[in-house]
Amino acid sequence: MRLITSVHTAQNIFLKLKQQGKRTGFVPTMGAFHEGHLSLMRQARKECDVVVVSLFVNPAQFGPKEDLSRYPRDLGKDRALAASAGADYLFVPRASDMYAPEFLTRVRVDVLSDGLCGRFRPGHFDGVVLVVAKLLNIVQPERMFLGQKDAQQVAVIRRMTDDLNFSVKLRVCPVVREKDGLAMSSRNRYLSDEDRVRAAGIYAALSAAREAVARGESDAQRIILQIKQLINDGTGASIEYVSCVDIKTLKDVGKINGKVMIAVAARVGNTRLIDNIIVRPSS
Ligand code: AMP
Repeated sequence: MRLITSVHTAQNIFLKLKQQGKRTGFVPTMGAFHEGHLSLMRQARKECDVVVVSLFVNPAQFGPKEDLSRYPRDLGKDRALAASAGADYLFVPRASDMYAPEFLTRVRVDVLSDGLCGRFRPGHFDGVVLVVAKLLNIVQPERMFLGQKDAQQVAVIRRMTDDLNFSVKLRVCPVVREKDGLAMSSRNRYLSDEDRVRAAGIYAALSAAREAVARGESDAQRIILQIKQLINDGTGASIEYVSCVDIKTLKDVGKINGKVMIAVAARVGNTRLIDNIIVRPSS
């Protein structure tokens, strides 16, 4: 596996590969790899000739009070893990190369960026789509692999790539979880031992909601209330939101009629965690 740090070099290499007719699979990440990231790389390996993983802790998607400076970084370990999952290139651009001092351009997906996490992280998805647009232009992949764990991110990126005519195909991979159900996240390593145990309660609450839907419950407000109670009682986490939304428009739904996403964001200790499940009504 080759490590590339220069944007210019990356562009030359990836353009050549495209001209040679190679199918490039791209996995954008912020590093601190876990099985969730590796599952995307393995899927890319299965489907593509060349697997490119980017590792960039993108300053543009962090708010002024967020964890940019303490975001976990371990390039040595990440290099070994990406190679073991079948990556051919690990692209680790420098922030100064991605955002030159004269940089002025913004990309924004309205509406989809504003609800759910967008309410609590203003500007976050603007930073996400900006960097993804740049990375797509540099890597020129045929396919991009994203995790369902960040479902709003998927919806926003899908809108951006469609609206701006990027020809990339999106592949969305399932949420990879710890044994107790906690969705894997680079931020889980911030959790104290006690909070780590509590954090599993978020998925337990989502699972209980799934069971309620399977038993015939279709009222979104009742489901939301049940989840909030379970999280409050079982974890003591401070809830940012619990929402039942349409999976494409991310608009709140009143009834579980078709496929609906139930999404949660909560803080356990100082750590912000998100999770979601997709449910459909029992027929
Ligand atoms: P990040 O490094 O957090 O920006 O994540 C990079 C990619 O990995 C994104 O597409 C995430 O949705 C995906 N990802 C992160 N955690 C998981 C997980 N537990 N399961 C599946 N995909 C994940």
